Amino acid sequence: MAKIAIDNGHGLNTPGKRTPTFPDGRQIREWEFNYPTAQKLKQVLERCGLETIMVSDTQEDTPLATRVSRANNAKADVFVSIHFNAFKGEWGTHGGVETHYYPTSEKGKRLAQLVQAELAKATGLRDRGIWASNFYVLRETKMPAILCECGFMDNMEEAKLMLDENYQWTVAEAIGRGICAYLGVNYVPKPEPKKEEIAPEGKFYKVQVGAFKERKNAEALLEQLKRAGFPGFIKLE
Ligand SMILES: [Zn+2]
Repeated sequence: MAKIAIDNGHGLNTPGKRTPTFPDGRQIREWEFNYPTAQKLKQVLERCGLETIMVSDTQEDTPLATRVSRANNAKADVFVSIHFNAFKGEWGTHGGVETHYYPTSEKGKRLAQLVQAELAKATGLRDRGIWASNFYVLRETKMPAILCECGFMDNMEEAKLMLDENYQWTVAEAIGRGICAYLGVNYVPKPEPKKEEIAPEGKFYKVQVGAFKERKNAEALLEQLKRAGFPGFIKLE
């Protein structure tokens, strides 16, 4: 079974890694997107029958060397690092998604291509393509490795997506599909929630909370329900 090392990039309090200030005064940390999205990616990959190892599963800023050695020691088959980009740290109109790989890694490049295609399609954000980058985690890991930038923190519209659970899922599923394609593994989609059952025409699902021989007991229960804020009535059947 293939093993995927997942890196959620940075710590909660890593200096600089945050949005500019929103009009309401708040800033979003990059970790607030990276971490939950990494957790979702873990679920996606495990659903597809893959093994995972989290290499920076904490609020702390795990040293790059630790992340890399965890992946190398676990003999992971793929390394993926999840990030949210920044341009100048001032609100601007730049934006989009991109995926990095190590310049001399052909496998890394192919993995990057497959993941980037899914990421661009699923998010609908500008497709900034793949980049050959001499990043530490890409260079020092022994397996094909990619680093995904899933939007820009200093684009206000994209920054608003960071805390959006649906967006986090969209990204996690897209990266998962790309990794599955790379490994030749069947991607298993998220199960659809079951449609609520609808009663046939003229029938209803009824909720009844009690039936009593003595009316005073029925009245006592009705009183309790009313105090709890539920409507009710007594009917002799
Ligand atoms: Zn980052």
